[in-house]
Amino acid sequence: MDVIYRYDPYAPLTARQIPDAQAAMNALVQGNDRLVQLVHRMQERTLGGDAGEPIVIPMCPMSSGLPLFPGAMPSQAPFAVVLGCSDARVPTEAVFDQSFNDLFVLRIAGNVLGSECLGSLHYAIRNLKDSIKLIVVLGHSKCGAVTAAVDTHLSPDAYVNIACTFPLRSLVDQIQVAVRGASHALDKYAGAAIHDKSLYRSLLVGVTAYVNAAVSAFELQRELSLYGEDGPQVVFSVYDFESLLVQSNPAHSSDVPRLRPAPRSAAELAEYAAEVVEGIMSLDDDDHESGYKLTKHF
Ligand SMILES: [Zn+2]
Repeated sequence: MDVIYRYDPYAPLTARQIPDAQAAMNALVQGNDRLVQLVHRMQERTLGGDAGEPIVIPMCPMSSGLPLFPGAMPSQAPFAVVLGCSDARVPTEAVFDQSFNDLFVLRIAGNVLGSECLGSLHYAIRNLKDSIKLIVVLGHSKCGAVTAAVDTHLSPDAYVNIACTFPLRSLVDQIQVAVRGASHALDKYAGAAIHDKSLYRSLLVGVTAYVNAAVSAFELQRELSLYGEDGPQVVFSVYDFESLLVQSNPAHSSDVPRLRPAPRSAAELAEYAAEVVEGIMSLDDDDHESGYKLTKHF
């Protein structure tokens, strides 16, 4: 199987146009789809499938945000800001198949908002406002920071280990809002008896990843209200390790937006948490070979 990057110096030079938030969302979702297709082709090949036709990826320095001539330097012009987790398995540009100068990226464990993060965000919005059309919060499944927050919620003894380390504690404390929201939504769906089930922890981690991304998006949207109507739109999503998709609900379907607008109120946030619980409970075990495997158990 061949993957070919091809540059034709005689082809017309074209700069990619991202005029609004919708175009930015389309570019990110289409990029994620390209990643999924590429990886699936490689996996099929690994399992003995046919190599098929080569995948030819057209390259152009201008549309790739690279200098066209030696010594030239493009102006910074990202079309989106992405707040993601530091997890090495979730490189932001690769997940969205984007290139140089496309994304202004903030990465911190658990994709939580801290003052330095907000400082970078405000810098971007004030100085790059002509190019930035969208703000994205990107969580991911099986997040270590989310798991630590869930563990401290389920077992207060575990909290002792981080209580004396302020930076760690502040990180985990920020995710507690999402853990509680996810826990409450699960209780509403299945009753408190769900806590006694052996897979409750995995389920809570799964739901919290989505709710935590929504909480960060909610806070970001509120933070950006000072820019009024002119502020960029905030959306959120979660990168799923099994499907490689960015999605706003574990039960992926064409009806569910891949990038979802930030909740505008606590009530919308709670509504979203309930949707995620319903989504995760609707998954078939067969669809998740190494996933939650929960539906049979509740
Ligand atoms: Zn993470």
